[in-house]
Amino acid sequence: MSSFRYPVEEIRERCDLVEIVSAHVALRKTGRTYKGLCPFHNEKTPSFNVDPDRQLWKCFGCGEGGDVFSFVQKVENLTFPEAVEQLARKVGVTIEHSDQAAKALSERDRLFRANNVACTFFRKSLESSAKAKEYLARRGLAQSTVEKYRLGYAPGNWDDLLNHLMRQRISPADAVKAGLIKPRESSQGFYDIFRDRLMFPILDSQERVIGFGGRVMGDGEPKYLNSPETPLFVKNRTLYGLNFARRAITSNDSVLIVEGYMDVIAAQEAGFENTVATLGTALTEEHVNVIARFTRNVVLSFDADSAGMKAALRSSPIFERAGFNTRILSMPKGEDPDSMLRGGNVSGFASVIKSAVSISDFRIGLILARYDMSSDEGRADALKKIAGVIAEAESVVDRERLIRNLAKYHPNFSTGTTLAEDHLRAEVNRFRSKLARNVPNRTESAKKETVGSVKKPITKLSLLRRSECLLLGIIILRNSDANKVFDALPPKEFTGEDTCLLAQTVSRLYSETGKIDQERLRSEVAGTPAEKLLMDLFMGLDDSEMNHPASELVHVIQNHKKNERRQRMRALAAQIQAGTISRSDPEYEEWARLVKETSSPWRR
Ligand SMILES: [Zn+2]
Repeated sequence: MSSFRYPVEEIRERCDLVEIVSAHVALRKTGRTYKGLCPFHNEKTPSFNVDPDRQLWKCFGCGEGGDVFSFVQKVENLTFPEAVEQLARKVGVTIEHSDQAAKALSERDRLFRANNVACTFFRKSLESSAKAKEYLARRGLAQSTVEKYRLGYAPGNWDDLLNHLMRQRISPADAVKAGLIKPRESSQGFYDIFRDRLMFPILDSQERVIGFGGRVMGDGEPKYLNSPETPLFVKNRTLYGLNFARRAITSNDSVLIVEGYMDVIAAQEAGFENTVATLGTALTEEHVNVIARFTRNVVLSFDADSAGMKAALRSSPIFERAGFNTRILSMPKGEDPDSMLRGGNVSGFASVIKSAVSISDFRIGLILARYDMSSDEGRADALKKIAGVIAEAESVVDRERLIRNLAKYHPNFSTGTTLAEDHLRAEVNRFRSKLARNVPNRTESAKKETVGSVKKPITKLSLLRRSECLLLGIIILRNSDANKVFDALPPKEFTGEDTCLLAQTVSRLYSETGKIDQERLRSEVAGTPAEKLLMDLFMGLDDSEMNHPASELVHVIQNHKKNERRQRMRALAAQIQAGTISRSDPEYEEWARLVKETSSPWRR
């Protein structure tokens, strides 16, 4: 822990959780709370909730929840002090640092500063480079575009940036860690990683520079050079241009994924604002999770024979499993989005997007092009391959459509469409059962994971637990009935570890202060199993449940317990009768006690 206290409460008060979450999740207001797709697990229906009154968030899918600090910590991958510092800056709260704390000022902050200084340096260098300016003009980039995307130029010498960073008092260690310079191999000292390249800063959701892409302006190799992985720059979940595209992706409910920086800029500037690019890596599950926060509709635009396209096809099952509607766009030969849009062909590009086809159709197209479909042999070989592709389509509607489309290539087609389709379907099903045999481990473990880790919504709990939770929720949120309830149902008699603990704490607070202060209650149960339950109650109860009379719930719980005791008593009686329990056993005593407890008063 640091040697000073953060003004956490002051920062919390000035933050608007809804606004902060909205930078990462598309939220919709439903009643008192906001809902959206959880950024921390993969889901199709929103179970991520934000409560604006209490400034709390909670996901009923994966069980994660907390306040504004824990959200920023998790979503930005920060430590608690880092999250506090970041929010403090955002809302204008000054944090006084001791020397020691200042020294410990997070590495991330220093790396952000190094990147920022480098970005400014590259922009300045662009202004004084006739060559770079001429190149940009040739590529048709307006000055406003250059400014918006903060484009720059890395000079061709080996140490221009290095010297500038040193002058700005950025340590070589930090500059190396930020991926800006490298230690020399044969001698002392360092050298610039990016030389004589057009520079594209890569920004995070808060428009901070996390890395760079550098593009050669002539024929050099590699054409694109990206920053190495750094604590700030994690390639397999970063998408270039997302900071600008986020809003358009949400409002269009679709994203266009292209291959290069220039493609992103050309597309966004031409009005296709929902465009992003991967950074020289294949699409990963983490990319899919990032995209899933905004939309489930993806159009992939890759050069047909590029590594990117091959990787996209390989990663298509990730999209399928996550329930995406994924289409692939075939650019006219020799064109990419940048070249097409630079030529002013906006409507042409729009119609190419419209003609994008499903992944299965695309893969089938590739197979058809590879085989000689005019010969019986070629057709038979192609169909065998195609059946495998169709089998991988997740939706039966898609599979049937593809079978219908391809039946015409089947040898049986001359004798009848239905026959050809039946044969093809049988072949597809054969592949499917093979697929199912090959992946049982994955589906089985995935299933287990969901059942084990996903917290059930309150409505799906057992009647007893549900009644106990609801009763506590009503006491806490309505701030009433506590004495009456606990007279009839002592806190110790709650059956869950968490409900029992929460009931005891509520009861104690109520008898000490005559009311239930929600903030105080939260801090009293912090770190115990009751904390999670309390959050669930804050976020999970709607008005209709809140109107339940407490007395009725007490009745339900008492009845339930009475029934359980009766059942236990009967089971014990049967065992006594059978002779498996004798008078000297502790169970006999238990039976006698139960008889006394459950007998009606007039018999006592
Ligand atoms: Zn979640």
